[in-house]
Amino acid sequence: MEATYRTYGIEIDGQDSGEIRTICPECSPKRRPEHRYEKDLTVNIDKGVWFCQHCGWRGSLLEEKTETVIFKPIPSIAKPSINKESKLYSFFQKRGISPEVVDRNGIGQATVYVGAAQGKQWCIVYPMTIGAEVYNEKYRAEVYNEKSKKTEKCFQHPKGATLIMYKLNDIMFEDECIITEGFEDALAFEEAGFKNAISVPNGAPQPGNEGKDLALKYIDNSYPYLKHIKKFYLAVDNDEPGRRLKEELARRLGKSKCYVIQYPEDCKDANEILQKHGASGIQKCLSWAVPWPVEGVFEISVVDIEIEKIFQQGLPKGVSCGLTSELDDKYKLFPGMLTVVTGIPNHGKSPFVDNICVN
Ligand SMILES: [Zn+2]
Repeated sequence: MEATYRTYGIEIDGQDSGEIRTICPECSPKRRPEHRYEKDLTVNIDKGVWFCQHCGWRGSLLEEKTETVIFKPIPSIAKPSINKESKLYSFFQKRGISPEVVDRNGIGQATVYVGAAQGKQWCIVYPMTIGAEVYNEKYRAEVYNEKSKKTEKCFQHPKGATLIMYKLNDIMFEDECIITEGFEDALAFEEAGFKNAISVPNGAPQPGNEGKDLALKYIDNSYPYLKHIKKFYLAVDNDEPGRRLKEELARRLGKSKCYVIQYPEDCKDANEILQKHGASGIQKCLSWAVPWPVEGVFEISVVDIEIEKIFQQGLPKGVSCGLTSELDDKYKLFPGMLTVVTGIPNHGKSPFVDNICVN
């Protein structure tokens, strides 16, 4: 029997298209009485998929499969900032990211013990959620480095929290998604109108740490929420660690589904594009994305000079075998050409090849 919404306990009130909000059968019985009738389950009836904004329960009629989040949630320490002129908002404003995008993603601030500073420090806190639950957070601090005499950014996650991709909630109903190397890059895409951008949680693998970093455990953790995606745009930095991350992501997600985003010469990441070229710069980058190159398949542009030469000068003339002019009319030798000589035994194949070799 074909699965229907009823099979999963979902009530769609006879709707047959569009997106509706309804009660989540997965979490509502476990919630407090006053929240039990909240319509947190979004159902996209055209695609036959649903996602609960509260508990993160996701499912698909077509796949006849549901996914319940199995990780342990953590208490968030992100405190919102009321003043739009505050340090928090101005950090993002300088990067071209508006207070609306900051608020929509629940980004806050906190004072946290930062290992690199060996003390408590003001941090930006990015909650990493599935549904309404926070499963991890990223703390971003700026620490003065005595050795390099520079202020450097550093990142931390709470101990023991599950590593997942950032902004997963925004791709639950999407067919395409953009994967960035940094959280601010994913927010830059959102600012430019592409909410379906997610970020890896801990950047690109640093030299010397590839083995550990390339384990990419967060892909396994996030995979139930990525597997419906048909097209991934990889938007990683234009440097060596970025290239390694790109290779590994493509290998894991399937090269045939991956497109590579090209940056303008003067930019190293998406946030820089937003600052220098605005939303239209980001849109252009997406439209310039190229499919992951398939081994042995070339663009015409790579061989166009050779093709043009054949068109102008005809096929190469080849070299005479030095036997008879009748043979030369029919057969000549070219560098790189493979010839297979076949025939009845003892009819002179070997002497024929020997003669050509000697000539
Ligand atoms: Zn739910």
